[in-house]
Amino acid sequence: MAKMQAGQIVAEVTRKEYITPHFIRVYLHSEEVSQFRNTTIGDNNKIAIPPQGLNEIHFPTWGDNHEWIYPEKEIAPSIRTYTHRGINWETNELYIDFVDHGDGGPASKWAREAEKGSKLGVMMRTEPRELYPQVDWYFLIGDGTAIPVLGAILEALPETAKGVCIIEVHGKEDEQKLETKAAIEFIWVHNQDSHLGNNMTQTVKSVKIPETSKFGYLACELSTVKEVRNYFRKEKNWKQSELYAYSYWKAGLSQDQSQSERRKDNSDH
Ligand SMILES: Cc1cc2nc3c(=O)[nH]c(=O)nc-3n(C[C@H](O)[C@H](O)[C@H](O)COP(=O)(O)OP(=O)(O)OC[C@H]3O[C@@H](n4cnc5c(N)ncnc54)[C@H](O)[C@@H]3O)c2cc1C
Repeated sequence: MAKMQAGQIVAEVTRKEYITPHFIRVYLHSEEVSQFRNTTIGDNNKIAIPPQGLNEIHFPTWGDNHEWIYPEKEIAPSIRTYTHRGINWETNELYIDFVDHGDGGPASKWAREAEKGSKLGVMMRTEPRELYPQVDWYFLIGDGTAIPVLGAILEALPETAKGVCIIEVHGKEDEQKLETKAAIEFIWVHNQDSHLGNNMTQTVKSVKIPETSKFGYLACELSTVKEVRNYFRKEKNWKQSELYAYSYWKAGLSQDQSQSERRKDNSDH
C-alpha cells in the first residue's frame, strides 16, 4: 500500500441519510480528520473508492506527469472529485453529499451501497481556499453535483449580500432548503433526463443582472458550462474575475474518461 500522505485519510462510514430522493449524505469517521481543521468547507476533495468486494483503500500516488500511478488492478481504487461539505468536530465525522445518479458510476454506486464500516479514502487540501470574492450581487448556478459547494457559499455569505441561485434537480422532491443570511432568490429547475445534460441555460438568461459589483459561480455538466460561460463572457461582457465556471462532469463519459477534455476547457477559460 502506498504511504499515507498529509491530507490523505481512510475514513469509515458511520451512517448515511437520503436528504432528498436523489441526494445521499454519507458520514465518515476518522481520528485523522483533524488534518482538515483549516480546510474550507466547499473546497473539492478526491475520494478513493475501493473495487467492489474489497473494503481496503490502497491509495494511488500523484506522478510527475500529473497522472495517478495506481497499485495493481485488483486493489486499485477509482478516484473521483467531490466536495468537502463539513466536519462534526465532536464526533470526528466528515461528511460528503452524493448525487444518486444510479449504479452506472463507482462513486454513486458506492454511496448507494455504503453501510456502517464501509471504507473510503479521502484526499484534500489542508489549507484554506477562497471560494468567492466579496461583491454586492451573486449569481450561483449549478446542478445537484454543485449543491454542496453552493450550499457552503450560501452559508458563508454575509447578510448584506444579494443574489440569485439557480439549481437544477430531478424534480420538486429534490429541492432542498439551503441556509443563508443573504437575500437570495432561489430558482429550482427540474430535469428528469439529467444523465443527458442540464436544462438551465434559458432560465439563466431570463435573470435580470443588476448594475453593481457581481460574481458568478457556475458548476454543472460540461456543455451547459460552455453555453452559460459564453453567455456571460460574450453577451454580457463579464470579466474573467467576475465568473468562476467549472465543469463537474460530462454526459455519457465517466469522470476519468472526460478528465482531459474538462481540464482543458476549465483551464482555457
Ligand atoms: C470540483 C468537483 C466537485 C464535485 N463535487 C461533487 C459533490 O459534492 N457531489 C456530487 O454528487 N458530485 C460532485 N461532483 C461531480 C462528480 O465528481 C461526478 O458526477 C462524477 O462523474 C461521479 O462519479 P461516478 O463514479 O458516480 O460516475 P462516473 O463513473 O464518473 O460516470 C458514469 C456515468 O454517469 C454519468 N454521470 C456522472 N455524474 C452524473 C450526474 N450527476 N447525473 C447524471 N449522470 C451522471 C456520466 O456521464 C457517465 O455516463 C464534483 C465534481 C467536481 C469536478
